[in-house]
Amino acid sequence: MQGKIIKGIAGFYYVYTAEAGIFECKAKGIFRKEKIKPLVGDHVEMEAISQEEKTGNIVRILERKNELIRPAVANIDQALVIFSADRPKPNFNLLDRFLVMMEQQQVETVICFNKQDLAEEEELARLRGIYEGCGYEVLVVSAKKEQGIEELLGVLDQKTTTVAGPSGVGKSSIINLLQSKVQMETGDISEKIERGKHTTRHSQLIYIQDQTFIMDTPGFSSIYLTGIEQQNLQTYFREFKKYEPCCRFQGCSHTHEPDCSVKQALEEGVLSPVRYEDYVMFYEELKNVRKY
Ligand code: GDP
Ligand code: ZN
Repeated sequence: MQGKIIKGIAGFYYVYTAEAGIFECKAKGIFRKEKIKPLVGDHVEMEAISQEEKTGNIVRILERKNELIRPAVANIDQALVIFSADRPKPNFNLLDRFLVMMEQQQVETVICFNKQDLAEEEELARLRGIYEGCGYEVLVVSAKKEQGIEELLGVLDQKTTTVAGPSGVGKSSIINLLQSKVQMETGDISEKIERGKHTTRHSQLIYIQDQTFIMDTPGFSSIYLTGIEQQNLQTYFREFKKYEPCCRFQGCSHTHEPDCSVKQALEEGVLSPVRYEDYVMFYEELKNVRKY
């Protein structure tokens, strides 16, 4: 039987199978033979020991599509990063740090602004404009008014998504809503899965619907850029890409060089100054990292 590891605690792996629900498994021999440790998100081949007690052995780990370090999870299809449009106002610096880290790990990110009900249309359009202008998909939702949740579900459908954001933005409200919406529609199926109310202490996948999982991650208040070379930073600002070939100098850092087309686009108002300021700040920050 094939399944997906949704949780790992103290040597036990909880494997979700579409046919028979969740099995408590051990990883027999895999660890020693293949020298790889099963990760949450792994697709595995499992042999049931007892169908009644729902126990089994993981006998093989299927090839991983990718592997994130923080959070430690395999086969992530995308990230969903949630900020609130107001109360608190979005911290662009933090959002841009998150985006840089995901670009570096080559994980596509969808940006979600919650608390739509608290912000003016104009402000919502501005938020959308900044990030859609960079090429990101942006969702505007309200957990309180249950707006935009269907659309969000559409974005998550058939994928495994890591969900992140600072605390207070309504991440738990959204996750609870997603769970209860699907729960109502699918009735007893979700009971079998014994999800209960989620906690974020252990990294674990939450089953939403068929082939659809999310991973809740603890709220963050800062992100330290690691593993990034200063000269590569610009490649993680995807909106710079089309201007770069027009800069006068090859390898232009877009900070101080003359005839820089990124800076020109900024002056013309086609690039967001918010994003550019963060770029410059991160660039300075990475200067010191480079020495090591
Ligand atoms: P988390 O820390 O990101 O998990 O945020 P919570 O889900 O605990 O929500 C933080 C606060 O924001 C709570 O008081 C929620 O009731 C409130 N909240 C969540 N979503 C919305 C929303 O869409 N609109 C408004 N006005 N308040 C919201
Ligand atoms: Zn340039």
